[in-house]
Amino acid sequence: GSDADATKGGAMDQHVRLHISKAINTGLIERCNGAVKQGKEAIVYHADGGKNNGCNTILEDGRDGDDWDKKAAATTMATNDNVGFDVAIKVFKRIKEFRGRGEYVDGDPRYAGRPFRSLSDRQQLEVWTEKEYRNLVRAHRSNVPVPNPIYYKDNVIFMRFLGENGWPAPQIREIQLRKGSSKWHVLYEQVMESVAKLFQDARLVHGDLSEYNILEDLQTVLIDFGQSVEVRHPKAEELLRRDLQRVNEFFTKQGVTETMSIEDAMAFV
Ligand code: ADP
Ligand code: MG
Repeated sequence: GSDADATKGGAMDQHVRLHISKAINTGLIERCNGAVKQGKEAIVYHADGGKNNGCNTILEDGRDGDDWDKKAAATTMATNDNVGFDVAIKVFKRIKEFRGRGEYVDGDPRYAGRPFRSLSDRQQLEVWTEKEYRNLVRAHRSNVPVPNPIYYKDNVIFMRFLGENGWPAPQIREIQLRKGSSKWHVLYEQVMESVAKLFQDARLVHGDLSEYNILEDLQTVLIDFGQSVEVRHPKAEELLRRDLQRVNEFFTKQGVTETMSIEDAMAFV
């Protein structure tokens, strides 16, 4: 990736246009309505779902999905459970940020034998995208509330759009709710249950959990799984502790008085 293919200011580059027109042709989406969020690393577009957005092609390019992921892909295809959703298209920007991310990938048994720093910028971005997608598939399969994964290719992920009428569901930091409201307590419990299920059933630690990466769409939904690691990763425990600390701090600020201590939370998970 050179500066020439940088995605700037929400403008859609040729590459993204191509993916979007392909997605329309294959019936994954009906039309793309434009960017709804511009994050540090990614731009998220809103699209109307097509007739065909339940097909999941995680192994399409013959990459090394392990058996677990193969089963996940087969199940997602069989249930075809994405039909009728609006679609979020997350496009990772071509930025150098990913250079320093090796430790999130190399320590993961799924990516053993492919040293991250030996990859080109473009390859790094693609591994990162693939990793987020695979993590989403796993979490979804374990019934952790996450956006349903639909498809990925290169630096682009298609997933269920959370929100209404093209408006993305709020990040929990954006919710207008009285400090100390019992609703905060409910949301806290939902998040803790998700983190525990993610760990126990999906065998993943989120790794960047915060009030930015939790949306509220009737219930709390975890997003942004690029940096998530397997529980076998050497840093998994450290990352889990940090995730739980951030969650605790946020909800304590909202007046949830009965947050668990980090040690209790670690034990709970
Ligand atoms: P980044 O790596 O840039 O933080 P995120 O995955 O967190 O990327 O996405 C950026 C923002 O886009 C999120 O904070 C959220 O507001 C919005 N967003 C992401 N995924 C979805 C989705 N599936 N539905 C609706 N909004 C989303
Ligand atoms: Mg984010």
